[in-house]
Amino acid sequence: MEEDYVFKIVVIGDSAVGKTQLLGRFTRDEFFLDSKSTIGIEFQTRTVDIARHRVKAQIWDTAGARTYYRGALGAMLVYDVTSRHAARWVTELRAHADKSIVVMLVGNKADLAGAVRWRQTRRPLFAEEQGLFFSEASALSGDNVERAFLTLLQEIHANVS
Ligand code: GDP
Repeated sequence: MEEDYVFKIVVIGDSAVGKTQLLGRFTRDEFFLDSKSTIGIEFQTRTVDIARHRVKAQIWDTAGARTYYRGALGAMLVYDVTSRHAARWVTELRAHADKSIVVMLVGNKADLAGAVRWRQTRRPLFAEEQGLFFSEASALSGDNVERAFLTLLQEIHANVS
């Protein structure tokens, strides 16, 4: 069946935060513990139903190439919950992406024990200040991955329909 919409989404963030694995989890329900870091540029797709429309998500694992922000309706900005977060990427997005881009901040690797506690309050606050949607997730366990991508797609859909 033909899709009603194709939404381009870019997955961005520092190297090794789990961008490729989040994408693999969402599009193919796969995870590889020893993945190589992102080389080059490619996209994966998955089609979902949102409010009676067929929406094809075309999700780019960009490794931060600026030209690939062009035409992106959404961005998934990924950081690793056990290390520093992603403020500089917000600046990058503001500079190079469309003004109306929908941004979901995702704290990946939420499965890792011992991740610092203050993240629970600090990170949502940062997201709120910056006008971003926010979720922690784990590409490894799969927790919240579906929900994070679907929230992003639903918000884009609400903007365009
Ligand atoms: P990228 O460079 O941001 O695309 O990062 P990758 O997706 O290649 O992942 C980097 C490393 O982190 C790999 O060894 C992954 O197996 C690991 N990784 C990715 N997601 C998770 C996660 O949710 N939990 C844990 N524990 N490890 C993860």
